[in-house]
Amino acid sequence: MEKPLGSRYRLGDPLGKGAMGRVFAGSDEEGKAFAFKLLRDELVEDPDLVARFLQERSILVGLRHPNLVGVHDLVVEGETVAIVMDLVAGGDLRARLTAEKTLLPAEVARIGAGVAAALAAVHQAGVVHRDVKPENVLMDGTVPRLTDFGISRLATASDLGRRSLLAGTPQYLAPELGKGLDATPASDLYSLGILLYELCCGVTPFAGQSTFSVIRLHESAMPGRPAGVPDQLWDVLTWLLAKRPADRPESAQQVATILDALVLELMNQPLVLPLTTPPPPVPLNETGLGTETVFGVPAGPPSRPLTTMPPGGTMPKRKRRGARVALIFTVVLALLGGGWIALNTASGGSAAPTTKAVPTTSTDTPTSTSDSPTATTTATPTVMPNVVGKKLADAQDALPGLQPTIEDKIDATAADGTVIAQDPAAGAAIGGAVKLTVARQAQLVYLDSVHPASGQWNSGIQNTNIAGKNYLHAVGSEVEANTDIQSVEYNIAKGFRRLTATAGLDDNAVDSTLKMQLEIFADGRQVFSKPVPYGTPVPIDLDISGVLRLKIQWEGVSGNRSACCSGSYLVLGTAELLGLPGEVPTSPTTTS
Ligand code: ADP
Ligand code: MG
Repeated sequence: MEKPLGSRYRLGDPLGKGAMGRVFAGSDEEGKAFAFKLLRDELVEDPDLVARFLQERSILVGLRHPNLVGVHDLVVEGETVAIVMDLVAGGDLRARLTAEKTLLPAEVARIGAGVAAALAAVHQAGVVHRDVKPENVLMDGTVPRLTDFGISRLATASDLGRRSLLAGTPQYLAPELGKGLDATPASDLYSLGILLYELCCGVTPFAGQSTFSVIRLHESAMPGRPAGVPDQLWDVLTWLLAKRPADRPESAQQVATILDALVLELMNQPLVLPLTTPPPPVPLNETGLGTETVFGVPAGPPSRPLTTMPPGGTMPKRKRRGARVALIFTVVLALLGGGWIALNTASGGSAAPTTKAVPTTSTDTPTSTSDSPTATTTATPTVMPNVVGKKLADAQDALPGLQPTIEDKIDATAADGTVIAQDPAAGAAIGGAVKLTVARQAQLVYLDSVHPASGQWNSGIQNTNIAGKNYLHAVGSEVEANTDIQSVEYNIAKGFRRLTATAGLDDNAVDSTLKMQLEIFADGRQVFSKPVPYGTPVPIDLDISGVLRLKIQWEGVSGNRSACCSGSYLVLGTAELLGLPGEVPTSPTTTS
């Protein structure tokens, strides 16, 4: 059902509902599709606030960047304030995280680079986002696009906003904002750090704590490091999460550059195990710096400028550069703490006029109302349950207290993310390590689209029939019994896990007594060696995980050596490289 909005727009179906209002699909008079966010009444109650918001119209409406959800118009009609923006169909980053639990480190870097680039554009325009979190990153296919920039000021400045901030989960709130200071570009970078932490391991660093505790922890403790986060990524995270704004990276643009360079470097890093509870935060006075009151540790950039870091170079270790702050800090904190608690209690009361859609941080981590550090105490099983067929996250839920080793395996027969094997078997006692094998859908690259690093196949290949069956995407070479060793070698960048193909001699071979020896080497190690006779297809299915150089080599073994026999082809039919999405390199191997 369509409804007019102002004179130019028509509202269509509802798309969703958030803390700030409801979102509808719709179109303008020319039929161009947009999304419309109608701000809720409580937010637009204060005319001064709305007036100030509208003053920034030209700034917000003018901002364009591939990683931003563009704002096209602000419409005020009667009581209604609507933001007209790009329609983005792919759901938000929260939905993706809920579905996948954790993202590959390279993917974390890629998405982080996109969000940082968006922040750079926003900051450049003099706007602070104030509300960087997975809910505000919409996924346009694989492209992250930041939304709600400049809008959250309405929320935080309004009465309702203040209350909802406290009632919600301040998981992404920079320490200085917890102390009541103004938001700055640096506070957006801190929030980005929390967001990336969460993408890595599935939880925010201070999840599971009360609102007050979270605010206090942002100020007084460093996030615990989840097992498996690669060093380079952790370095960026802790830099973003420096307590003192001045100790964070200089600009969002710098962060974008650094993360961008990390994408390739992290290509082969496996998923970090999804956590339901973050590792214990490390109080600042336990960071090995003695009993000094230290505020802002660890801090400071790595010792050389990262903007000049070569792609593929490793992140240098950070210099420890702690700043000292007087004990007054503790006093301020205590005072503030009282204030926050009072407000928090007020907002939790029945006086709240409307129920708020409180942004949840993670489906796994309900906000606890107690200050206890861990809320979950389910007994660790001693006998292995059957988890085959379960989604990985559910399997992990069935194994509380255990940290199973996860092995991803390309398997098209089970749904992506499903456990396909377990060790120990169901019913067996859990003595040592638990291992789960998880099915992953493969990403496929045909070998015929990959440029060899050395050697070449015969481009004149005509016939790709082996024993009566035709194979597409075949590579091949003209051979005879006298063919000396020949080879083709690929750089596959450690980005693939499996090589599958069918080898054979083409059915039209001149010499039907021909037999070739086919050998395959992975980083110099022989992984396949078989004779390929005329008339018999030879299947190839090899594990090539972590392999950089793949060499395929052949040589004539027997056949009609006296009668020359050009016109026989060795064929590798349907030759496929299979890898996990996110691991498969997009360059330089697949440029054809
Ligand atoms: P709020 O920021 O007020 O909490 P959101 O921005 O999360 O609200 O919007 C609520 C829902 O509306 C989102 O989950 C999403 O499904 C949908 N939505 C928001 N903006 C867009 C958009 N630009 N394109 C498509 N859907 C959107
Ligand atoms: Mg939002």
